[in-house]
Amino acid sequence: MTVQANQESFTFQAEAAQILDLMVHSLYSNKEIFLRELISNASDAIDRLRLELLAQNEVPEDDGQLEIRVSHDQEARTITVSDNGIGMSRAEVIEHIGTIAKSGTREFLQALTGDQRKDATLIGQFGVGFYSSFIVAERVVLTTRRAGLPAGEAVRWESDGNGEYTLEMIEWPVRGTEIVLHMREGEDDLLNGYRLRSIIEKYSDHISLPILMPAEPTDKSGDGPDKAAATELVVNRASALWARPKSEISQQDYNDFYRHISSDFSDPLAYVHTKLEGTYEYTLLLFIPSRAPYDLWLPQSRQGIKLHVQRVFIMEDTGQLMPNYLRFVRGVIDSSDLPLNISRELLQGSRVVDNIRTSAVKRVLKLLTELADDDPAKYATFWKEFGAVLKEGVADDYANREDIARLLRFTTTKSNADQADVSLSDYVANMKEGQDKIYYVLAPTGAAAASSPHLEAFRKKGIEVLLLGQGVDNWVVSSLQEFDGKKLQSVAQGLSDFGALEDAAEQEAKEKATTEYATVLGKMKAILAGKVWDVRMTSRLTTSPACIVANEPETELNLADRLRGSGLPRQSVLELNPNHPLVERLNHNPDDPRLAEWAHVLYSQAVLTLGARIDEPAAFVARLNDLLVALVDAEAT
Ligand code: ADP
Repeated sequence: MTVQANQESFTFQAEAAQILDLMVHSLYSNKEIFLRELISNASDAIDRLRLELLAQNEVPEDDGQLEIRVSHDQEARTITVSDNGIGMSRAEVIEHIGTIAKSGTREFLQALTGDQRKDATLIGQFGVGFYSSFIVAERVVLTTRRAGLPAGEAVRWESDGNGEYTLEMIEWPVRGTEIVLHMREGEDDLLNGYRLRSIIEKYSDHISLPILMPAEPTDKSGDGPDKAAATELVVNRASALWARPKSEISQQDYNDFYRHISSDFSDPLAYVHTKLEGTYEYTLLLFIPSRAPYDLWLPQSRQGIKLHVQRVFIMEDTGQLMPNYLRFVRGVIDSSDLPLNISRELLQGSRVVDNIRTSAVKRVLKLLTELADDDPAKYATFWKEFGAVLKEGVADDYANREDIARLLRFTTTKSNADQADVSLSDYVANMKEGQDKIYYVLAPTGAAAASSPHLEAFRKKGIEVLLLGQGVDNWVVSSLQEFDGKKLQSVAQGLSDFGALEDAAEQEAKEKATTEYATVLGKMKAILAGKVWDVRMTSRLTTSPACIVANEPETELNLADRLRGSGLPRQSVLELNPNHPLVERLNHNPDDPRLAEWAHVLYSQAVLTLGARIDEPAAFVARLNDLLVALVDAEAT
């Protein structure tokens, strides 16, 4: 690129060139989206101008219409998109246009899969919209003047997308941004008014601002008095989608609108669109996405609700309108009862906002309940993407706990493969006769839960157990405590308590063993003092020799311990299986000099099968090897 005398030249970040290259190649099959992206940016810029003016209690300086213009010039081979929105200062151009995707870039590059189709759908999520211009343009010239700055402080940015751009301060008569795309060779099909108009109708009809295009020769010039002057036409419907009657909105309109507000390329799973008229009047249009955004688990994850007051965009929600456990919901809430110049601080104590939030949450939970009932396959997708987030609601939202509990899905000992396909209602419906509790096992991972020795007797008796392996599950069970009148009970806590399911013969065998093993149990308890609270016999195990359980009534594996990483209950009890040969052997010779080694090895094994960490792995290995050497020696003699 040749640099003029008054131009300065800059290079993009290293990653930018990579993104541009990827974009041009992988988005090519969908090249027309560049127009949607530019119009979307123009619409945001006008929203931001309106907001700034509201905050300052001013009207636009030119008092004119706020609008977006799209035109083309076949001879010059250009397409121009302009808006009279907020514009950018020189520093803003460098920050927003010179730095592709800012903070999102790294996450974006990490998220890349190598599959071009998938990668293309990722692009929108990471805020690289403007750069989609380079799919069709070999050179882009952006001219912008920040609202409030004088004509002499406009900026011209220019780039061919090959790693460098230039900046130049220029005179520009109007506020806002103009983007001129110099089209690549072979893109002539886009240099056509009808084509551009149909792209706008397809992707940008929901934009609530007028999008103007020059009238084509065949356009009727309207019936109004200024017939002759109709050189420009509004080509979109230019009304806020959520304010239109539902009967006039197609599924496609909803999907396009969702994409516009969510930067997600895929269609939403479900939506609710409703107008409430009571004490307060407001409209909700809320969507459940079909996949998690990249920042769902980042501390600063984006909230997805845009608050409007009488159709004017006011601000993005920061938690006042949607609780954190529903942070994946995207959409618009439009109130008629809030002042246009409401600030974030005022939102906090507002009765109107509380009222809206309460009913918005209820609507979302109802939508999810309907989805679960009517379309289990879609609900399974939802659960896979957002289930762990929704679980937070059991602890966070006392008022709606029951409804949220009904929405939970679990993997259980009876699940298909390791799918989370069992609801608590399913569980209760399938309870065995005489069963009065909902059993669960809690472990650091799903795999550790599924292979826990605590399940052995439950498997044998055919009693279903919920397998809980996510960090949040701890909160779920400690907040929920019961469902449908049935207590939630850990299978690794307290005495093995099958209630009415208890087998009399087993009970007897356990008691008999306790008497027989009294001496050994006493010695082992002394050996493991400080590590375990008690050592006892159990009917819980069928194949493993030992397991760790939590002493009643302590909540097992409590959160603090988990976070510290030991994963052990504070009051651990070592339970032994009297029918296991290793345990039987202990009783052959209560004076066995190796009893201490056996005790430690059985304890460490039990800790490991819990999915927890043993304190001294080297000591465990040394003891185990000693016992193996003794075995080898015994065999040799
Ligand atoms: P995104 O819109 O997802 O943030 P873009 O790359 O499309 O990503 O735009 C980057 C930033 O550039 C925008 O966030 C905005 O600050 C600024 N910008 C883009 N287009 C315009 C415009 N027409 N008017 C004012 N600012 C704009």
